[in-house]
Amino acid sequence: MKLAVIGTGYVGLVAGVGFADSGNDVVCVDQDQNKIDMLLRGEVPIYEPGLNTRLARNREDGRLTFTTDTAAAVRQAEVVFIAVGTPPGEDGSADLSHVRAVARDIGRAMNGYRVVVNKSTVPVGTAEKVRDEIVAITDHPVDVVSNPEFLKEGAAISDFMKPDRVVIGTTSERARKVMSELYAPFVRTGNPIIFMNNRSAEMTKYAANAMLATRISFMNEVANLCDLAGADVNKVRLGMGTDPRIGNKFLFPGVGYGGSCFPKDVQAMMRTGAEYDFPLQILDAVHSVNEHQKSLMARKAVAHFGDDLSGLTFAMWGLAFKPNTDDMREAPAIILVRELVSRGAKIVAYDPVAMPVARDLLSGNVEYRDNPYEALEGADALLVITEWNRFRNPDFERIRRALKEPVIFDGRNLYEPERMRENGFTHYTVGRGTVRA
Ligand code: NAD
Repeated sequence: MKLAVIGTGYVGLVAGVGFADSGNDVVCVDQDQNKIDMLLRGEVPIYEPGLNTRLARNREDGRLTFTTDTAAAVRQAEVVFIAVGTPPGEDGSADLSHVRAVARDIGRAMNGYRVVVNKSTVPVGTAEKVRDEIVAITDHPVDVVSNPEFLKEGAAISDFMKPDRVVIGTTSERARKVMSELYAPFVRTGNPIIFMNNRSAEMTKYAANAMLATRISFMNEVANLCDLAGADVNKVRLGMGTDPRIGNKFLFPGVGYGGSCFPKDVQAMMRTGAEYDFPLQILDAVHSVNEHQKSLMARKAVAHFGDDLSGLTFAMWGLAFKPNTDDMREAPAIILVRELVSRGAKIVAYDPVAMPVARDLLSGNVEYRDNPYEALEGADALLVITEWNRFRNPDFERIRRALKEPVIFDGRNLYEPERMRENGFTHYTVGRGTVRA
């Protein structure tokens, strides 16, 4: 099939590469000339494991091309995907200006029937808005399909190639057939394509992300209570998660959720509730628990060192909101850095891939090192913020020698309190108590 994917970010690029990989001819479009120039040179603008090799292969085979020319891409395509950003507006609602602008570009370029597929995360009712934008410009027939994307950054390629499920929102038989053919190679093992109407598909994406965010905030509250009550959240998590009705995934407490999806999608769903005069009380709590959790490690640092942190240096392992990505959008590290720096502290950070992005975002407040152990030299304490695998089993002797004081704020519960006691550390956790050197 001939496809155009408009928006070449985390979702659009992965989708473009994935569809090309199953034999389709894909043109990826972006308005960002720099991004397209990089891709035309064979460079990948984002960090995503496995993306570069697959991208190179499909480019070489001639199935994947890049352009800034939306009209040309739309004219040659049978199916046009919209995968542009839907950032939060002033009031938390999803800003649809990019989606609407692309809809108008599509309408202007159409020279026959098109299936227009919305892959961006958009509020209920957006498919109708997209359709209205298009039919106001063109007389050619169009079906607008809602096809939310569930990939996880850091595992985007495998999630896209082997999705747990594909959700397709449409009431058009013609579009349903096209979408079934397109996705057939991705669901050969029997994972379902779930068809529904557009509004249900749009709601599904928000409900799924809101549920995941709820699990995180719930576990963060359980962990904080464990700390106060002398329970170990790690045991509690295992004890809960073995109940199949609960399941063992997504029960890890930490420094709060971040990234480009959960924070904005929770807010946008709350806005949708407000528009229907139906305040979503659970999400209100999920959001405020998360805001509080982002500064948990700063509060623990203040409890240890006192209110005034001037003259102190904190080594920070991890900056991105999760491992295997360089995405710093809404990363809890941003809040943590701000809190510590506002109290006079200095931060020396290491992240395997997010440092170039963090440099632009955190300005002069942070120094960076190319190696996690270098970041420790002369620091007063270590903060572990992102659960990169390489931080799980470090050389504790080397950490102890490098730090002025053997203090670790373990924001991801990577280290066993008992082992930290044996190694002579003061170890702060999220819900596993505190070991004192
Ligand atoms: P992104 O910001 O990484 O990429 C969006 C791209 O669209 C940018 O490169 C931008 O230049 C381009 N763009 C914007 N307006 C354009 C226009 N008029 N014409 C051409 N290009 C244009 O965003 P993303 O993370 O890929 O997310 C895209 C959508 O997918 C969002 O709605 C997001 O919520 C959703 N989503 C994201 C993820 C994720 O993990 N990142 C997962 C599932 C769903």
